[in-house]
Amino acid sequence: MDIVRIDGDGIGKEVMPPTVALLDRVTRGGINWIPARMGLECFEHCGDPLPQVTLDLVRTHKLAIKGPTTTPQGGGFQSVNVRLRRELDLYVGLRPAMSLGLPGRHERVNIHLFRENTEGLYDSTEALSLDGQSVTLTSHFTRRAMLRLARAAFLYARLFDLDTITYVDKQNIHKVWGRLYHGAFLEVAVEFPDISYNHRLVDAANMFLALSPESWGLIVTENMFGDILADHLAAIMGGLGVAPGANIGDEIFVAEAVHGSWPEKAGNGIANPTALMLSGAMLLEHMGEMELAGTIRNAIIRTLTEGDRTADLGGTLSTTEFAEAVLRRL
Ligand code: NAD
Repeated sequence: MDIVRIDGDGIGKEVMPPTVALLDRVTRGGINWIPARMGLECFEHCGDPLPQVTLDLVRTHKLAIKGPTTTPQGGGFQSVNVRLRRELDLYVGLRPAMSLGLPGRHERVNIHLFRENTEGLYDSTEALSLDGQSVTLTSHFTRRAMLRLARAAFLYARLFDLDTITYVDKQNIHKVWGRLYHGAFLEVAVEFPDISYNHRLVDAANMFLALSPESWGLIVTENMFGDILADHLAAIMGGLGVAPGANIGDEIFVAEAVHGSWPEKAGNGIANPTALMLSGAMLLEHMGEMELAGTIRNAIIRTLTEGDRTADLGGTLSTTEFAEAVLRRL
C-alpha cells in the first residue's frame, strides 16, 4: 500500500519518524512510503510551500499522512493547510476525541467532530479600508458544502454505530446563513431516520462540552467553529499533544494531528508523538484495518495509563523514549 508521507516543519520532523516506525511495525512493513514536501522549509528551498508535485502525489496515491506546517503570522504566504484542503477538495475535517485513561480527565469520552473544511468564516477575504481604520470580511457559504458534510457525517454515524448527531451553528445571529446551512443539514437528516439529531448554538455547545463531554457523540459544524471546537476537544483529551485528525474528500484521506509545528520547541525532542500516531491509526481504519488501528490505540492507552508520558502530560520522556515505550506495548 502506497502512502504519501509529508513531514512538514518544526516538530513535524520529530513526530513523523516514530509514527512511521509504529505504522511499519503494526503493518509488518506493508506500507510503501512516498516522501513529499510542504510547508515553510519547502518554501525556503523551492519557492512554493505547496508544490504541484506534492499535490499530484497525494492525488495519485489518495492516502497521506502529514506533519504540521508553519504559516507565517500576519503576512507571507497563505496557509498551506487551507490550500491543500481546497486544492484536493478535502471537505471533511474529522477531529475525534477519546478518553486515553489520563488522570484527572473525563472517562468514556467518544466524540467525533465533523468540521466543514473548504469555505465559511475560515476562508474569508479581508478588505482593509483606504484609511486603514476598518476591515470588511466576506465569507461564502454554500448549501452544497453542508449537504456533503452532513451526508458524510450521517454515513459515518451509521458505520460506527453513533446514535446522535449535534448540529452546531450561530443562527440566532447569522439568520440567512443559518437557514441555508441548517436547512441543508435537515435535508440530509431525513434520509437517515435511524439516527437522531439535535441543534446547539456554538457558545452553548462549548459550555456543555466542558460540563459533560461524555454525553456528546458526533458534531457537525462550520469551518471556524469547528477549528475552535477541535482545540476544545483536544483539551478534553489531554492537550494538543494527543489530539488526532484527518482531512477527507470523496477519494482522498490525509491524516494529520490537530497541533501545529510548535516552532519555539522544535529540535528539543520533547514533542508528544501521540497525536500523529493516533492520526495514523485513523488512516489504518480508513483503509479497513480496524484491528490494527485498535492495536495502536490500545498500546498508546496502556503506555499513558502505566505512567510513561512526555512533559506535556506531566511526564519526563522524550519523543523517542515515549515512542519506544509504545512499541514495547504492541
Ligand atoms: P502549536 O500547536 O504549534 O503549539 C501550541 C502549543 O501546543 C504549544 O506551545 C505546546 O504547548 C502545545 N503542543 C503542540 N503540539 C504539541 C506536541 N506534539 N506535544 C506537546 N505539546 C504540543 O500552535 P501554534 O503555536 O498556534 O502554531 C505554530 C505554527 O503551527 C503556526 O505557524 C501555525 O500556523 C502552525 N499550525 C499548523 C497546523 C497544521 O499544519 N495542521 C495546525 C495548527 C497550527
